[in-house]
Amino acid sequence: MVSQKKRQKIQLEADDYVKGIVHSDISVLSQAITIIESALHEHLELSNYIIDNCLEKSGNSVRVGITGVPGVGKSSFIEMLGLHLVNDLGRKVAVLAVDPTSHVSRGSILGDKVRMEQLSRHPDAFIRPSPTSGSMGGVARKTRETIILCEAAGFDTIIIETVGVGQSEISVHSMVDFFLLLMLARAGDSLQGIKRGVVEMADALAITKADGDNIKNAEIAMKEYRNALRLFPPKDSGWDPRVYKCSSLTGEGIMEIWETVLEYFDKAKNSGYLIKNRQEQAKYWMHETVLANLKDGFYNNPGVRAVINKLEQKVIKGDISSFTAAKKLIDIYLGRTN
Ligand code: GDP
Repeated sequence: MVSQKKRQKIQLEADDYVKGIVHSDISVLSQAITIIESALHEHLELSNYIIDNCLEKSGNSVRVGITGVPGVGKSSFIEMLGLHLVNDLGRKVAVLAVDPTSHVSRGSILGDKVRMEQLSRHPDAFIRPSPTSGSMGGVARKTRETIILCEAAGFDTIIIETVGVGQSEISVHSMVDFFLLLMLARAGDSLQGIKRGVVEMADALAITKADGDNIKNAEIAMKEYRNALRLFPPKDSGWDPRVYKCSSLTGEGIMEIWETVLEYFDKAKNSGYLIKNRQEQAKYWMHETVLANLKDGFYNNPGVRAVINKLEQKVIKGDISSFTAAKKLIDIYLGRTN
């Protein structure tokens, strides 16, 4: 239980955070995101208060997910697109990353090099690397919460970047309006480690590095993907995925891709799909959070912890079945004594 006095203090601090975010104070925004990312239980109440109070001011952005294997050209693409958005279109761009490997590699696939150097210095851009703690689900959940804060701070374009590892694309897909898959020209899907399901989720595919000697290959790949996509079932959104080629060296294709994002956004807004999809996503994250918290509570329960190793051993030896062991653990967790 949090004491009355402590609650008042938390609230006071929380209101300062909310005020700072709403006034687009980037330093306060960064601090608030750090609180959200902190796994500490004592921060949970503060974190939820900030998010709840930013919620009303959130929602006014175009949310775009970008995925592709390491080296495909994600950061170069985002740098180029981001600079076009802030310089030519006057947009405010936040770039967030979801990297499930970040806690393993300490610095991560996405974050170990200087990325998006020019964009990160621009006053209308905000770049935040992936949270480095927690499971895949935890990392993604925190990013989902961070979107709300960035929107409340006035960012009208949110780009979520992810490496195609594990379930990260699915998580990112369930927090964005538009999903873009970047691909290399000269390798098949399997070589790129891209799962069919990911291609199916994409609203647009772009063949990267379409410059110099690579243009021809990019054109061939484009044709192949256009044909392949025709065989996929139609999307709930009614949108037919597009295929492009692009280059972050020449700028080829980048504006066109952005125009497509806006075309999609307008159509989805007018048809009601955008709102419906966001509502479904909000529901999805509620259930995800419930599951994650229950799992957390279960495995941290002292009674469960006291016996779990012993039960594991019994299961391994075949003394009891996995199912009986699971029931025992759940009974302990729920305080059922029989
Ligand atoms: P990421 O790992 O997906 O973020 O990929 P990067 O953006 O870091 O790019 C990986 C490598 O490809 C770097 O050496 C880039 O310079 C290069 N690269 C990225 N985009 C292009 C492009 O459009 N054309 C060419 N020729 N090289 C590119």
